[in-house]
Amino acid sequence: MNSLNIQIENVLVWVDTKKCKACSICVSLCPSGTIAMVSDPHSTLGATIEVIEPESCIGCRDCELHCPDFAIFVAEKDKNINFAKLTEKSRARAIAIKENNFRKIGV
Ligand code: SF4
Ligand code: SF4
Repeated sequence: MNSLNIQIENVLVWVDTKKCKACSICVSLCPSGTIAMVSDPHSTLGATIEVIEPESCIGCRDCELHCPDFAIFVAEKDKNINFAKLTEKSRARAIAIKENNFRKIGV
């Protein structure tokens, strides 16, 4: 069985929800609205992080570098991975998520 910190083919960003403490630091830093907090009744804190718009990830790694629990991972840029450019739409979504207390919009 693979550890969750091992690159999964064609996946840009992924979360080990068993390690995630739902602190929302990663969401607060994500410039592209790629990730957001969602309810998770199976989590001890009742919430976790979901990769809601994986195709919007720009590969900045701010989430991974600042996660205190090493629970979120970003693909290596040298692995033929195509990260997105930051668009007005993704920037606006990131702002809306932050204004929504870091939670996914519309749920
Ligand atoms: S920074 Fe890490 S522990 Fe905090 S919400 Fe994000 S993935 Fe979870
Ligand atoms: S690498 Fe950057 S754009 Fe991608 S999810 Fe993490 S913080 Fe957001």
